[in-house]
Amino acid sequence: MPTAGGCGRLSPVAASPAPRDPVADLRRIAFLLERALESTYRVRAFRTAAATLAALPPEEIDGHARAGDLAQLKGLGDVTTRCVMESLSGSVPEYLQALEEEHPGPVTAGGARLRAVLRGDCHTHSDWSDGGSPIPEMAVTGRELGHDYMVLTDHSPRLTVANGLSPERLRRQLEIVAALQPVLSPFRLLTGIEVDILEDGALDQEEGLLAGLEVVVASVHSKLRMPAAEMTPRMITAIGNPNMDILGHCTGRYVRGRGRPESQFDADAVFGACAEQGVAVEINCRPERLDPPRRLLRQAIEAGCLFSIDTDAHAPGQLDWQRYGCERAEECGIDPARVVNTWPVEDLLAWAGDHSHRPSARKSRR
Ligand SMILES: [Zn+2]
Ligand SMILES: [Zn+2]
Repeated sequence: MPTAGGCGRLSPVAASPAPRDPVADLRRIAFLLERALESTYRVRAFRTAAATLAALPPEEIDGHARAGDLAQLKGLGDVTTRCVMESLSGSVPEYLQALEEEHPGPVTAGGARLRAVLRGDCHTHSDWSDGGSPIPEMAVTGRELGHDYMVLTDHSPRLTVANGLSPERLRRQLEIVAALQPVLSPFRLLTGIEVDILEDGALDQEEGLLAGLEVVVASVHSKLRMPAAEMTPRMITAIGNPNMDILGHCTGRYVRGRGRPESQFDADAVFGACAEQGVAVEINCRPERLDPPRRLLRQAIEAGCLFSIDTDAHAPGQLDWQRYGCERAEECGIDPARVVNTWPVEDLLAWAGDHSHRPSARKSRR
């Protein structure tokens, strides 16, 4: 059996640790900060530094490190330069070490069983609307988390505060997604949108464009406090739109900070319509939303709805939030077979693509 130094003397080189990948370390730092819902501002330095270094050949990074002029590169400041130097010397950057210790393991204790059978995420945002990262970074992170697929669902035109996509911008985005596909394969980045449910229940995007998207999430973002007598028909009209696949964060509530009350609607009627039309009710995993609340979740199960457990991530690290939704789904006793993102991509696409005669969720699909 070979032993250390068994073939001769130990070389001094073998004694020093191999350099780590500074880009991977910076991305990991950003990921952990995002997962902890840190401000985009605090994360940006690490994302920018990682992007700058990722565009350079490793020899060039080494050259700058030896010359001591890393800080001259775009986006590299004191903290990020120190991290890179530590990585290159073969040690885990102190900053990263501290974060790993601060946030060990998954975001919450429960939900492991259901999370293990999820194959994708159907609600995510990029920097094309109000997300913090470019499309490829979101997609690569989704792939690294073990997903088979991820739906890109940036906002629709009327949500101007979130830089919603005009039809032209959405068409351009579709070309970008198509061009990325070969790079990501076999992982699938699916085309989609989080389209606003307008006050009259219409969806805020050209019908033809919606029909061509692979998955359509529709959500209420305006006039959240309208009376139930108006909100119920508004939601039911949207659910009846054959292009709609998933009802996003149905109550619009916020459970953190100053909070926001639930929108009022006739849950029996709304979930009944979802079940009838085969529209999935989203279990939104954002820690400040956790929407719908458990009592409505149980009601939707009772109504025979399908579900989609989605992060609504606005940054790569937030893609790791699915355990929050899985935990709640398990507490409410959801059958994993009714969760559309436990399905293989072909089944998901067949369901979402069936825009004419949706199989009722009450009939067992699988
Ligand atoms: Zn939304
Ligand atoms: Zn969203």
